[in-house]
Amino acid sequence: MVCPCGCGAILDMNLVPDEKAVWRARVEKDGTGTLHPSVWRQVGCRSHFFIRNGKIRWCD
Ligand SMILES: [Zn+2]
Repeated sequence: MVCPCGCGAILDMNLVPDEKAVWRARVEKDGTGTLHPSVWRQVGCRSHFFIRNGKIRWCD
């Protein structure tokens, strides 16, 4: 996915189990997506956000 802050960075989320730093993606009843845990970039824009029901929830 592209970083939602608008910086244009490409974020790779590892959804493969049995590896470190795994995010879990879930499809909600309404068809939207939820990603857990939060995404926190350690480089670049340092964005920290959740994806809940297809929407970005920023953490400060
Ligand atoms: Zn960004």
